Amino acid sequence: MTTDVLRVRGLVVHYHTALGAVKAADNVSFTLKAEERLGLVGESGSGKSTMALAILRMIKPPGRIEAGEVWLEGINVMTLPEEEMRQVRLARIAMIPQGSMNSLNPVMRIKAQIVDALTDHGVQLSARQAEERVRDLLQSVGLKPQVAGMYPHELSGGMKQRACIAIAISLRPKVIIADEPTSALDVVVQKQVMETLARVQKELEASVLLVGHDMGLVAQFVDRLGVMYAGKLVEVSPVRDIFTKPLHPYTQMLIASLPSLEHKGTFRGIPGLAPLLRDLPPGCAFHPRCPQALDRCRTEAPQFKEARPDSWAACHLL
Ligand code: SF4
Repeated sequence: MTTDVLRVRGLVVHYHTALGAVKAADNVSFTLKAEERLGLVGESGSGKSTMALAILRMIKPPGRIEAGEVWLEGINVMTLPEEEMRQVRLARIAMIPQGSMNSLNPVMRIKAQIVDALTDHGVQLSARQAEERVRDLLQSVGLKPQVAGMYPHELSGGMKQRACIAIAISLRPKVIIADEPTSALDVVVQKQVMETLARVQKELEASVLLVGHDMGLVAQFVDRLGVMYAGKLVEVSPVRDIFTKPLHPYTQMLIASLPSLEHKGTFRGIPGLAPLLRDLPPGCAFHPRCPQALDRCRTEAPQFKEARPDSWAACHLL
């Protein structure tokens, strides 16, 4: 039987601005199974990065988690005191951030940054043990031992991102959240970083939540794909199904807009713009752009429900 490692239930995150509350995540629920890779995709501003931060309780003011539960291996981390949560981060659930440039300390050598993360979580190491641990971690992400003595500015973009992966896996977490881990890298390096992530995930028997805006890229890596629109999860389906029989009209249009060899030279975008999160349309937030909208879509928000085995979606057509 497959066990759930992470269960997110009814997560609501608002950013409080002078112009009103920005509803960045609105009643989002999903499950991550043991050793599963789940992708979370959507346009920028759809709430996917907010979700990643909220799961780790790293939302900063003016943002606030308004409601919801995040069950990590049977513990609702939303109820933990901050000090305990700090220990859970990295040790049980770790984040590979969007910009490695901003997350690595520019004035510390890589070795010191890895050792810092370990000692901060109570790992006591002799100088020799630290040396060995750093070398092993670097090796597991495909970096040479010499990288330990380097500063971030001496590394290429791909090497920096691998160094971030090394820090993220230093305490062998069971869940890894990767937020656009390859966004600033060229395609060849992107592939290498994703392969590194896949390798360490297997080795740790961890689950991965991969957040990204490039549906084609994310889909190559994951088992199931979640699609976010205007702060809501609108569909979660296995990858093998989502491309052949997408349930939600937004997913269908996202897939139709992906470049393909058959439709070389033609680009089918999605008409209209994503709505402002502080001024969402009533009913289904996708209705102004949806070619299949019904009358009730303008007033009644659809429920997120299981529409076929293992596939969930929020649409009145289902
Ligand atoms: Fe389109 Fe209505 Fe479904 Fe929303 S609920 S996606 S507007 S059909």
